[in-house]
Amino acid sequence: MIINSNFGNVRESYLFVEIARRVNEYRAANPSADIIRLGIGDVTQPLPAVAIKALHEAVDEMSRAETFRGYGPEQGYDFLREAIAEHEYRARGCDIEPDEIFISDGAKSDTANFTDLFGKGNTIGIPNPVYPVYLDSNVLAGHAGNPSGDGYENIRYINCLEENGFKPEIPDAHLDIIYLCSPNNPSGVALSKDDLRNWVDYALENRALILYDAAYERFIREDGIPHSIYEIPGARKVAIEFRSFSKTAGFTGLRCAYTVVPKTLEVETHNGGKPLDLHSMWLRRQTTKFNGVAYIVQRAAAALYTPEGQEQITRIIDIYLNNAKTIRSVFEAKGYRVWGGVNSPYVWLKVPKGMTSWEFFDYLLDHYHIVGTPGSGFGSMGEGYFRLTGFGSTEKTLEAAERLKRG
Ligand code: PLP
Repeated sequence: MIINSNFGNVRESYLFVEIARRVNEYRAANPSADIIRLGIGDVTQPLPAVAIKALHEAVDEMSRAETFRGYGPEQGYDFLREAIAEHEYRARGCDIEPDEIFISDGAKSDTANFTDLFGKGNTIGIPNPVYPVYLDSNVLAGHAGNPSGDGYENIRYINCLEENGFKPEIPDAHLDIIYLCSPNNPSGVALSKDDLRNWVDYALENRALILYDAAYERFIREDGIPHSIYEIPGARKVAIEFRSFSKTAGFTGLRCAYTVVPKTLEVETHNGGKPLDLHSMWLRRQTTKFNGVAYIVQRAAAALYTPEGQEQITRIIDIYLNNAKTIRSVFEAKGYRVWGGVNSPYVWLKVPKGMTSWEFFDYLLDHYHIVGTPGSGFGSMGEGYFRLTGFGSTEKTLEAAERLKRG
């Protein structure tokens, strides 16, 4: 058979493999070192009690013929789509209908799978640094084109630089497709209403599509930071939005997310001639290639929209935000430049002058037995920076902070 040659174009990511290798090597040489992981991108708190209760009840329903459920709707059950439309969108003044919401097993799969809808020849804007899935999924699908220098023929990196507070710069040139991630992984920076308005205006002018990844929306606490791109006038014409219960409610192992594809999108879509509508295309894609999220998991997600559920989620996110604040404060006190950790679990810091991201990794491991993530693993513009996270336990985070203060 002839295989998809694009797999040969994707650059290997050695980031987490290399982190594991260095940590193992260090542990072997220093068996008594108590290593604290502050680089973790997964949640550590257990599921909220409302989700556990809903799971048990839904499992019981599955045990009785009268309430058993087999295949569900590919787009998700109405009870969950309606709860999301009501609580996440209408409550914030965003005009989103339940049938514009597609329930899925993850924002990772959705952001990657959405590339099925792209034809050949688009110019695609991807922030640098950012969550690597946007680039890699376009390379695998053949949309990135051939490797060229540090990048690919059809990819335009949207640089997120320190001098702009790590916010993505609006390009001078035309883009067909734009990825945005806010609050951002890895920098933790959240876009303001004005920032997002500028991007929506750019997309309207260029008839471009914005893929807005708001997987960390629930960490937003400051006023003036939009929770959804649909808070911006005109966004229904140009943007789709990805959300996830992974970081919101500890569903990283349970798997449930959703994507909003408005019916009113007016981006330039054609297959050489005929205009096509992205909402119908995504519905077709999902009904063809996906059979929906488990009923019991959707029940657990819907339970989060009760008043107790909302309270429990807030309490869990408070823990991560407090951890992030602890990390942020300790580095600030030591004179580091630090971003994020306010509307985000991620803290992004500038490594000391003259060091690379990996050298700083070794320095933290060696001097403090603390593990983080080198910024260079998220794109070339992440070199010289470092990501730490609030996802660890409070106890370990405080201990790491004490070590850093003493050092
Ligand atoms: N989007 C961003 C920006 C992420 O950082 C992550 C996970 O780390 C995801 C999406 C994946 O989310 P999910 O667990 O819903 O697949």
